[in-house]
Amino acid sequence: MLIGQKGLGKFALARQFAASLLCEAPQTDGKACGKCLACNWYAHGNHPDFRLLQPDALNDEAEAEDGKKKASQQITIDQVRGLDEFLNVGTHRGGLRIVVVYPTEAMNRNTANALLKTLEEPAPSTLFLLVSSEPMRLLPTIRSRCQVVPIPLPNAQQAEQVLADEGVAEARRWLALAGGAPGLAMELAASGQLAWLEILIRRLSVGKNVDPLALAAELEKAVKDSKGKLLLKNVVEAIQKWLVDLTLAGSGMPVRYFLPQAATIASLADMIPAARLIHSYRDMISHRREAEQPLNARLFLEGLFLDYRALFAN
Ligand SMILES: [Zn+2]
Repeated sequence: MLIGQKGLGKFALARQFAASLLCEAPQTDGKACGKCLACNWYAHGNHPDFRLLQPDALNDEAEAEDGKKKASQQITIDQVRGLDEFLNVGTHRGGLRIVVVYPTEAMNRNTANALLKTLEEPAPSTLFLLVSSEPMRLLPTIRSRCQVVPIPLPNAQQAEQVLADEGVAEARRWLALAGGAPGLAMELAASGQLAWLEILIRRLSVGKNVDPLALAAELEKAVKDSKGKLLLKNVVEAIQKWLVDLTLAGSGMPVRYFLPQAATIASLADMIPAARLIHSYRDMISHRREAEQPLNARLFLEGLFLDYRALFAN
């Protein structure tokens, strides 16, 4: 199980690791050759000894079909059960059989239990590569069945280089906002995805004068218009980061995420009792969970911003 924060390339790593294990003529450094029959199959997504379990919503082809049904954000129990046949026949190429699960936390309890059952009775010559950015949300029994490999953040210099290589301007700013994760920083920096964040920052910056209902309406619209790219949980995560920065500033420390707003955040922090901030951050952790469930998005957002305004109450 590869764990680590979002935007580090854990999934890409799992895919490359799988490719290198399936390759039938690996290079001296162990990487896949990219030329053999197995590599060719793998590149085209039809290696007979490989399966990828991911929500339909992450599958580009499923999205392109644009059918009547909304693509699932979850790995389904049918997908997990569908592995049975794959695991019960011998491997096709006499090597390993590999299943990549990503993101592992995108499963309900029943599905997770079905996967657990498979992990508990391992088929021979089979490797499961589970990828998770939120390992605390997994069934403890799944985690304990796995060898957990934490993927660390790259150092700041490496991360800035990655963004520079991709032609991203203001690398430091985006990296800060992404908590140092280059993949997430690139996602944030990508144009068109940021209008909502600008709105959020602008409105949170006015502290007690924030208009919770207007802000909720604007962000609800942004979520709707994004067609699945912007999720409620992304909004909650951004507010969490804002609260972390307020807490840091309140203790006289430099902000971590919202570098350009450092001065604003410091002056807001002076108006909020520290205990209230900590309490609010805890609330936000449970809001983060609620954001996964289908609910009334507008009411949910209004609740968040009413709480935010209450931070500044006398
Ligand atoms: Zn190869």
